Amino acid sequence: MPTIDDHEVLIKVKYTGICGTDWSIYTGKYSADRLPLIAGHEFSGTIAQVGKKARGLKEGDRVTADINMSCGTCFYCRRGQKLMCRDFLQLGIHIDGTYAEYVKAPYDQVHVLPDSLDFLSGAFIEPVSCVIHSSKAAKVTHGSSVAVIGSGLGVLHGLLARLRGAAPVIVIGDNAKRLAIAKEFGVDVTINIKEGKDPVAEVKKLTGGRGADFVVEAVGTPKTYEQAFEMVRPGGTIAAFGICAGDDTIKVRPYDLVLGEKTVVGSCAGVGPDWPDAIALLANGHIKPQSMFSMIVPVEELESALKQLRTDPNLIKVFVSTEISKREILAK
Ligand SMILES: [Zn+2]
Ligand SMILES: [Zn+2]
Repeated sequence: MPTIDDHEVLIKVKYTGICGTDWSIYTGKYSADRLPLIAGHEFSGTIAQVGKKARGLKEGDRVTADINMSCGTCFYCRRGQKLMCRDFLQLGIHIDGTYAEYVKAPYDQVHVLPDSLDFLSGAFIEPVSCVIHSSKAAKVTHGSSVAVIGSGLGVLHGLLARLRGAAPVIVIGDNAKRLAIAKEFGVDVTINIKEGKDPVAEVKKLTGGRGADFVVEAVGTPKTYEQAFEMVRPGGTIAAFGICAGDDTIKVRPYDLVLGEKTVVGSCAGVGPDWPDAIALLANGHIKPQSMFSMIVPVEELESALKQLRTDPNLIKVFVSTEISKREILAK
């Protein structure tokens, strides 16, 4: 049981969504210097205890929490760039997270869930906030063409591009089920690379031979990053979202960057205002993620679920609970 200080709250965890980052931690590719660690960072729960100086919250509140913590006083924190803080810590990635009955969080990181948001959607706010952060960085405009490489969170990138008024919105992936959900979300065109089409040629065909105004890379491999540079039109913008290995490199022709005036914007995580923005879109039904929710597993099955997610193309978002004893299937 975590013990809280005056500025913290104790949260009884309801659900935690399994994220690709958890696999990287489990396999020792990420946060290895932080182990042993309780992972889990996409969560919802109920406040069980409130620190003496924690304002605006009470026991029983249904909540989630912004997982990004920083020192508050360094060069970056003073400039509102806490993700670059040298003492940057994420709940469930660098410090103990939510694959547990209880977690503690600083009160000013906690967000109360509106009544219209259930606990499952509450545990999905974190990934939505990450996609919103990227979408804001890219500044997608009405009527601009957007190509998203990747059909994991790429599906949500496609939906957000739609919400920003982009057209056409193209999502490229290798998973028929996820691409069908992208269609459900109102994406104009999906390209399944398993059908053997060259995604760069297809995107050019759909954009008058130029390439897309915006390309979102949401896979995280050198190959797909190189495709993003090929697929974006001169004067266009690449949103770098997929996380490669730390020592991966790509081939880019500086000539094309200079003469082609291509812009690249990175985005690390959803932070600060991205959280209430994600809550607003979910609570008002502008993002209806339920078709992405596959199942809930008891925490004892976390390890097997992590492995199953690597191999079963029908699974999308899997949640973990300490309160159930057998799997609950959500969407087929
Ligand atoms: Zn995550
Ligand atoms: Zn700092």
